[in-house]
Amino acid sequence: MPELPEVEVLVRHLRPQLQGQTIRAVLVRRERVIAGTSIRQFTQALQGAKFTALSRRGKYLLFSLLPAKKSKPRILYGHLGMTGRMYLRTARTALPKHAAVVLDLGRKNFVFEDTRYFGRLTLDPGGIENLGPEPLDSALVPENFAQALKCSTQPIKVKLLDQSLVAGVGNIYASEALFRAGISPRIAARRLRPAQVTRLWQAIRGVLTEAIELGSTVPLDYDGKDARDGFFYFGRGPGTPAFYEERLRVYDRAGRPCINCARPIKRLVQASRSTFYCSQCQRDQ
Ligand SMILES: [Zn+2]
Repeated sequence: MPELPEVEVLVRHLRPQLQGQTIRAVLVRRERVIAGTSIRQFTQALQGAKFTALSRRGKYLLFSLLPAKKSKPRILYGHLGMTGRMYLRTARTALPKHAAVVLDLGRKNFVFEDTRYFGRLTLDPGGIENLGPEPLDSALVPENFAQALKCSTQPIKVKLLDQSLVAGVGNIYASEALFRAGISPRIAARRLRPAQVTRLWQAIRGVLTEAIELGSTVPLDYDGKDARDGFFYFGRGPGTPAFYEERLRVYDRAGRPCINCARPIKRLVQASRSTFYCSQCQRDQ
């Protein structure tokens, strides 16, 4: 599932392509993904609108639009869900089977494709209203992050997936950040000492920053032509190395040696999700 770095890399990829483009026509093939508005309202709001900016909040893409009829600027909220992809493709190319929304930009189409339809492209701001702080914004531990940890009895790995604690961290980078900070995924969030909270915040920033940098240097396959696993950021050309796996130190490495101490990495299930960690480098106390 795409997390903050994958969305950030996608935003940087799409931004120059969309800037200044005008939406000529709107095609909604799956009403579920525009949740919150009817197809009619959605089409009326978007038709003739111009893309003025693209930014990110947590795992959401924020498309700024200037509507055709001098009405107020609007924001279109995009979320990739589990299997969503967003990309531009020449208008002459046939639409993929799972194209959920297509925006006609003239010579090109903006395609939102999603095989499972858990993703969103909507005018409803509900998804971003309760998001926690952006981890890349501040080098200092935000007060609400430290405070929320202090009040939580959940294991820290489970708490990190709560988007109101910190925006954009998911299952992969939660395991990676805890390994880097040397904190056991099983410790109750409220038991973390202030020094550990600081280390964890820095580790989150570190893993996300590296993932963005790596993603920006690896040739990514945004529309999934070569990907067999269904995610744009896993995409790579045939015969090229698996950059994605190499950058992860614990995630999906159960049984393989820890890069610090050579003991086998362990897998644990917490709140129905897999956690990967080293029991030597990440002690329970
Ligand atoms: Zn270790």
